[in-house]
Amino acid sequence: TCGICVEKCPFDAIEIINLPSELTDDPVHRYGENAFALYGLPVPESGTVTGLLGPNGIGKSTAVHALAGEMVPNLGQYDAEPDWETVLDRYRGTALQNYLERLMDDAVTVARKPQYVDRIPDQFDGKTRELLAGTDERGVVDDLVDRLSIRPVIDQPIDTLSGGELQRVALAATLARDADFYFLDEITPYLDIGQRVTAARLVRELADEEDRSMLVVEHDLAVLDLLADRLHVAYGEPGAYGVITDPKSVRNGINEYLQGYLNNENMRIRPNEITFEEHAPRESVTGTPLVEYPDLRKSYGEGEFSLDVEGGTIYKSEVLGVVGPNGIGKSTLAKLFAGSLEPDEGSLDFRLDIAYKPQYVEVDQPMRVDTFLSSITDDFGTSFWNTEIAKPLQLERIMEQQLTDLSGGERQRVAIAACLSKDADLYLLDEPSAHLDVEQRVQATSAIRRYAENHDATAMVIDHDIYMIDLLADRLMVFDGEPADHGHASKPQDMRSGMNDFLADLDITFRRDERTGRPRINKPESQLDREQKRQGEYYYAP
Ligand code: ADP
Ligand code: ADP
Ligand code: MG
Repeated sequence: TCGICVEKCPFDAIEIINLPSELTDDPVHRYGENAFALYGLPVPESGTVTGLLGPNGIGKSTAVHALAGEMVPNLGQYDAEPDWETVLDRYRGTALQNYLERLMDDAVTVARKPQYVDRIPDQFDGKTRELLAGTDERGVVDDLVDRLSIRPVIDQPIDTLSGGELQRVALAATLARDADFYFLDEITPYLDIGQRVTAARLVRELADEEDRSMLVVEHDLAVLDLLADRLHVAYGEPGAYGVITDPKSVRNGINEYLQGYLNNENMRIRPNEITFEEHAPRESVTGTPLVEYPDLRKSYGEGEFSLDVEGGTIYKSEVLGVVGPNGIGKSTLAKLFAGSLEPDEGSLDFRLDIAYKPQYVEVDQPMRVDTFLSSITDDFGTSFWNTEIAKPLQLERIMEQQLTDLSGGERQRVAIAACLSKDADLYLLDEPSAHLDVEQRVQATSAIRRYAENHDATAMVIDHDIYMIDLLADRLMVFDGEPADHGHASKPQDMRSGMNDFLADLDITFRRDERTGRPRINKPESQLDREQKRQGEYYYAP
């Protein structure tokens, strides 16, 4: 190894080509002897949305505490009393000088959206309206409430909101503040794609129209690409050290990240490149059907939600991507397949064993992770289970922890592992990407894919992260309709026609990055956008 790593090589024993020069200097901050050290800081800039892309535990919050003036960075001298004069001396003549000078004059105000919105009900007791009233420093809450469609829950107690509702309330509360510097620790978890694009536009507007400085941590790369003007990549070993690079263009930053190699830093951060299917996969699906089902209809009570399902076939060992807004009937369909709900029209003469990972992963049992997982499968601890499940989901380090002590991302990984460890005909995963950082999404994606291939298992994966769907799905099931009123599920279709259906409904087109083939959202009304809409090719190159 290169001598930096505390425990084991974060790059899985790839040869590290050379040491980043940052690491031979003093860090910006070190928490103590042998404790986490942060190298480099993002540079906030007025009128700019700065993205920060990197794993959790890499020092993003540490950097924000410093930039918010809540903590004087110690430049590595953890046993001395830090002071801003010394910090400013170090950064004189750099892009940070101006910002740090303002910070020292107490001329910087900061608004922050926390990462785990699920915890807001523990900290605030009251209704949505009351929470928002407390942060409306710019007098814009009413407008934000409409744009983020919060109105239906405005008089609801905060502890009754769903994750997606909490996320939008937290965004409104943060963006309504009157600050120079906004820090948003993920804006997309639990939001569907339409809501993600709305959130991204609101953040952009605050930078463009109000000249504010926005720093956004985001793991949905399509949204990050749409949102940010420039990008710092953070790498290192989570929990041990983190390096924040100089800003890159968003395009280069994401491309280098996907390629696993940072050019300026001359640094390999992953052994393999992540690649996308530029052209639609072949249409013919060959295989053994798992089920064939007829048209179905199900409604809840009088005039409440109703779902129409187009009959179709699901094949063994395919991964079926499921896309559509929240509240459109996806979980209802799962319950019909599982036999826990009976359809009103159409009948199902099969009953599938479904292993289901719900969208919101709740744990209330005080139980160790290893105890919990070994109660689910006899394979627990076998080399096959370790290779296919524990390793890609990075469970080794958390096996001895209590379920109740896990972070959102850790809980998500345990829940995915629990789902895949069950013996079932159909694995249904509802938003597995939530709370995972980009690297974990990539790993979880390949674990799910490999699992389906090796076990003749069929997986249905509901996710709103287009990159994840692209990397995972063989075919698509598209839901449309009016959330909370009526929903319609298409038959499973090939990726091209599925993406076209789905994106036409959202009025969004994608182009391909020339270097990596990754999908990028087109600017509305750009020439490409209009041309692709005219041809009806919303996603794959014609
Ligand atoms: P991120 O925001 O990227 O998830 P953080 O900045 O919160 O990362 O934390 C980076 C590392 O620093 C973590 O390993 C964390 O445990 C450690 N850390 C954070 N705060 C302290 C502290 N006050 N004392 C010691 N270590 C800390
Ligand atoms: P999705 O999984 O796409 O988010 P769901 O299938 O969970 O959607 O729910 C679709 C709609 O049906 C929502 O408006 C939800 O509130 C409503 N709904 C779900 N279960 C019931 C129920 N048991 N009784 C009445 N309405 C329900
Ligand atoms: Mg953090």
